[in-house]
Amino acid sequence: DANPFKKMPTILMPDELMAKALRRGEKVANEMRKKELPWLLKARAVEEHKVRTIASVVADNLQKVIDKTPPVRKLPKFYQEMVEVLVGVDDFKKSMGAFKWASELVRKLGNEYAKKIRAARTPQQAAKLRKEFVGRVKSILEQIHPEMAFVAVAREKLKDMPTFKELPTVVIAGYPNVGKSTLLKKLTGADVEINSYPFTTKGINVGYLDDIQMVDTPGLLDRPLYERNDIELQAILALNYLANLILFIIDASEFCGYTIEEQINLLKEIKELFKVPIVVAINKIDLVDENRVKEVEEKLKDVGIENILKISADKEIGLDELKRFFIQYLREHYIN
Ligand code: GDP
Repeated sequence: DANPFKKMPTILMPDELMAKALRRGEKVANEMRKKELPWLLKARAVEEHKVRTIASVVADNLQKVIDKTPPVRKLPKFYQEMVEVLVGVDDFKKSMGAFKWASELVRKLGNEYAKKIRAARTPQQAAKLRKEFVGRVKSILEQIHPEMAFVAVAREKLKDMPTFKELPTVVIAGYPNVGKSTLLKKLTGADVEINSYPFTTKGINVGYLDDIQMVDTPGLLDRPLYERNDIELQAILALNYLANLILFIIDASEFCGYTIEEQINLLKEIKELFKVPIVVAINKIDLVDENRVKEVEEKLKDVGIENILKISADKEIGLDELKRFFIQYLREHYIN
């Protein structure tokens, strides 16, 4: 799995982490109690080991979260966009910063209190110092409680983030029922994978045509974009960083329920909002006469579309030409 967030560990909340650290501290203290030592030395050793153990359990746990979380700025742009859409990059970074702050502070305090305990003049004083240390660690963890909760939720979301292969990618767009999924199946074979994606419950379909990744995006690029709210739009525009080419499908028969004009308007909108080159496939040519296809072709040229192919996904007409176009186009334009 390519998901860079899969390795993030479970995030413990302050109480859980504190309980874990105290348990370990108690265990280590019990070992020390078995040792033959003068009473004051032993009392100091017990408390010092407790403090050191608590400090390292807490600090290591927080540090592990940082170490196992990929730095967002080093991720490919598409995944950066997904983090932004799913959890917010700034909040995520701020929370990781809180983990780092707490981890370093607890480690430092652990050393300071261990030193003080070694100089304690009575067992009572050593115990008092240890209690003071525990209190401070608790309050540090309480202070970052909101960030811990945030990262716990973020982890759940990021673990399910959609992931794709690092391959030249064609993203399919067009109104519902124009023939997108029929075409994807004909081009890439039966085993189309379904991937989750933010803001669509339908799941997006991924197939492979040799070394070309083809992505059908029901619910995303199948209706006007101006209807979307900001965050949805951002999730959709993240496809900019996934797509090397957009294949826009037009149903020449209009049996899909949308007129050629409506379909071209959606195309225009996608053309404006995406920085990715577009090829248009006029589909269902088996259902209409040649003049109709020519008319559609002219209208597409009028809006500045240069790459136009004519196909029937269902009757498998023109699919070899389409395949050849992808291979040639992506060979010339895909840089990785
Ligand atoms: P999507 O919603 O864009 O994925 O559209 P589908 O692939 O589900 O196709 C919608 C309907 O159009 C289905 O009943 C398909 O069988 C039919 N269809 C798709 N392509 C063609 C075609 O080239 N010719 C004909 N006659 N029907 C097609």
